[in-house]
Amino acid sequence: MESYAAFCKPLLTRALASIGLNKAYHRASGNFLYCKDENGQEVPILDLLGGYGATLLGHNSPLIREKIKCYLDEEIPVHNQFSIRKPAAMLAERLNELLKEETATNGDFVFCFASTGAESMEVALKSVEFTRNAQLLALGQEMAQVANILDNEAEVVLTQEQRQQLKLEKDPTVQEIKLALSAFNQFQLDSKPTFLALEHAFHGKMMVTANCTHGAMYRDYLKRLKINTLFLSPAQLAEFVEMGEKANDILNSWLWLPQEENGQIVLTKKAFRTVAALLVEPIQGEGGVYPLSTEQVTGINRLKQILGCPIIADEVQTGSGRCGFLVASSDAGIDADYYVLSKALGGGYVKIGVVAIRQKSFTPGFDVIQSSTFGEDDFSCRVALDYINLLYADQRKLLTQVTQLGNEFKTRLEDLKEQYPDVIQEVRGKGLIWGVEFCDVINSDSYILQNIAVQGSLGYVISGHLLCGSHIRVAPSGSAANVIRVEPSVFLELSQVIRFIEALSRVCLAIRHANAGFIVAPVLGKQLPSVVADYRRRETEQEDDSTADYKAAFVNHLISADWLKEVDPSFSLLSDEEMTLFVENTSFNLATKPFKPARIRSANGQSVSFTLYPIPVTSKMIKSALAQNDLERLRHEIDVRVAQAAQAGNTVVGLGMFTSIITNNGKSVKNNQINVTTGNTLTVGMGIEALKNSMLNRDISQVRITVIGGAGNIGRVYAEILGPQFLEMTLIGSHNHGSVRKMNEVKYQIYQNIYEQFMTNSQSVMRGLAKRVVDCLSLMPSGALAGKPVGEAIDHYLNQHHSDQVFIRISQNISDIEHSDVIVCAANASEAFIPVDKIKRGGIVCDISVPHNLSDNDLINRPDIQILRGGIVQTPCHDSLDPRVRAYLGEGQLYACMTETILLALEQHKGNFSYGNISAKQVLDIMAIAKKHHFTLSEIKGNSSL
Ligand code: PMP
Repeated sequence: MESYAAFCKPLLTRALASIGLNKAYHRASGNFLYCKDENGQEVPILDLLGGYGATLLGHNSPLIREKIKCYLDEEIPVHNQFSIRKPAAMLAERLNELLKEETATNGDFVFCFASTGAESMEVALKSVEFTRNAQLLALGQEMAQVANILDNEAEVVLTQEQRQQLKLEKDPTVQEIKLALSAFNQFQLDSKPTFLALEHAFHGKMMVTANCTHGAMYRDYLKRLKINTLFLSPAQLAEFVEMGEKANDILNSWLWLPQEENGQIVLTKKAFRTVAALLVEPIQGEGGVYPLSTEQVTGINRLKQILGCPIIADEVQTGSGRCGFLVASSDAGIDADYYVLSKALGGGYVKIGVVAIRQKSFTPGFDVIQSSTFGEDDFSCRVALDYINLLYADQRKLLTQVTQLGNEFKTRLEDLKEQYPDVIQEVRGKGLIWGVEFCDVINSDSYILQNIAVQGSLGYVISGHLLCGSHIRVAPSGSAANVIRVEPSVFLELSQVIRFIEALSRVCLAIRHANAGFIVAPVLGKQLPSVVADYRRRETEQEDDSTADYKAAFVNHLISADWLKEVDPSFSLLSDEEMTLFVENTSFNLATKPFKPARIRSANGQSVSFTLYPIPVTSKMIKSALAQNDLERLRHEIDVRVAQAAQAGNTVVGLGMFTSIITNNGKSVKNNQINVTTGNTLTVGMGIEALKNSMLNRDISQVRITVIGGAGNIGRVYAEILGPQFLEMTLIGSHNHGSVRKMNEVKYQIYQNIYEQFMTNSQSVMRGLAKRVVDCLSLMPSGALAGKPVGEAIDHYLNQHHSDQVFIRISQNISDIEHSDVIVCAANASEAFIPVDKIKRGGIVCDISVPHNLSDNDLINRPDIQILRGGIVQTPCHDSLDPRVRAYLGEGQLYACMTETILLALEQHKGNFSYGNISAKQVLDIMAIAKKHHFTLSEIKGNSSL
């Protein structure tokens, strides 16, 4: 498995793992593929994907195997290229006979062989162009001949338009006209051909066929190698047909033909064909299982007549018996000139593709230049012939069986749709190719299902559920991920059909019940519960944010995976480990839907519609990305959300939790349309407020304080504001590179601030550390600070002359918290790390970090510690977030960083706010704004009560 990821499909392997499709099959027989479970036991998987349509006889059909054994024993040639290849001829002859009969036509076909569907389609496309080229060469020669009449020195009359197109000056000579005409006509003849294809078309993934495939992801990156393809919707097709001859003018091209008229030479238009072919699948498989409507079929046949172009029927998936016929277009009524077969034609064993070309459309010579090493090999041709003969044996018994089994599917799937019209949009198909289209789940009551809709992965998730939960293998259509495609073998038993329908009906019920947990559970290794619990939300009120005065957005992420069960209650059936596995597995696609907005009002009556834009990764995952300096992807995800928020009309976006850290406090965000803030400033302000409130009865100038995370953006401002007021301060930093240097810078800054205050003679109001420093500075001889920046010079002076005292201690040892009575936590850690036993008796801890630096569990045995979760704000009108996304918040509460975002929207603040490093002045400003709108520090609660 690992080597598959390493050497074959690095990203796809992750995608398969995310939905539980990462199985390795070691055996295949009939309707089953076999893999092994964790105990090495063989597990049969009912295969309804059927090799994307290649295994109409099931896997390793014994009917073909016996023949193959003989061929091997007989040592038939495989590689006898450039000789008379009898099996190819026999197969061609048989296909010719059957095609003529099925399409009720007389003319014979010529057959070109290849190995795969796309290769065969490329051969067909080349063949049409070969024929068109021959026609254009002939036309070119005819034109050269006709142009000779210009040698007769006759008068040539040109219209204004003609002169312009031929780029001729006024009164050109006849020779000039002849030259210009020849150049113009050659240019027209050399113009690129156009291939007409249909919306939802799939014709393969090779260079040309990918360009004829409608799904943008297959062809967009090839646009610079582009061939001209026009994809027609049913409406466009009808419009061209309606236009009649005018469609010819638009889609085809023309030359200027000189003609004699009343003794003068005039130029008339001669049309020629630039539409090389019209490509059609009678049932569009990869595009979402769309059978052509009768209107489309009529339109296609009519357009062929109007344009004079050949129709290529791509029967790679629908042909060779899949729809009960050799070619499904015969049944649909398509008047094709080319039929392309592959997939099932190989009997489930060999790679073969073949292009049947009506003789009138075939130009000899193509057979000389077209070949491939593996095309026409005796072995594949024999197997294909055996397969075809088998289909038609006993008066087409197997083909009849295809139709009968197909009808069984049709009835049962349509019944299911009738039972679940809210879940199944449509059931489409014919014979043994069926598509079940699911309704969009973007407005499901399950937030996980909403995100699955955003990611366009519903069909994949359902396939994973059916595989892991019911041991049934299906897959969505490549270009329509809401459509489950079913292509079983003709030998599928009724009991197996019923088993599939029952499993699918459980999925339908789970979707109806907004029970995403039920759908993903088996992929996480969980047994399916016997009941599909109903998680639809009773209240259906749609949040209407049109009446809010302002809009603010906030990017957040999961604290840890277990919070998912709050966000989507259907996940409560999963264990914490299973939820973690889910988050990790699905992290290769991080697209989410913004959470429905909450309305937050100011006391002055104005309101903000506040929308969360979540990233489904945990703090721990982000932390590990940080450790590996692997931030590009997460930053991109943040940029995407910031852009979405701007697009949705938000005026400010807050970067919550770790998103502020990984964007370097907002600085990496690529944006110029919306104001950005990390919300750090109000967080600090509210933290300080909480701390001061809790110490109203104490003289803080006599108390020691520690700031954990003292080198960081938030810790630094805490230290600057609080440090000078307390008796002594310890800054504790991480072991990260540069931590000590940064803490020293903080220390110097504080000394400098104190010095500046000292110089302005405001020391009279100083207390605590500031006063102690100033007292020392007053004793200092003049000139003692020369030679260094002032903060550093003070530090140097204090170290030399007052080394018996501690002013600001710099440490990387968390145990140093034991020196202080008050601890402020501002570290970014994905888990709690502060050793509770080192905290002084009766200590006060202000922990605003989320996740907390200090664990609630550890605090159970230390009721003496007063813990302040100061980052929480009370909303003025008791407005709250949706209970599903509140995390540690209670009703009427918001985090300070969110509040800052909302305040900036209320103030219609211009420009970024908490962006990069924040300052002590900003703290005062935002606290004043909070006060104005009556957002207050939430009541300080006791230990862990939040
Ligand atoms: N045409 C159609 C209609 C197909 O369904 C497919 C395969 N899904 C192809 C072409 C390409 O066939 P292959 O994958 O063998 O190249």
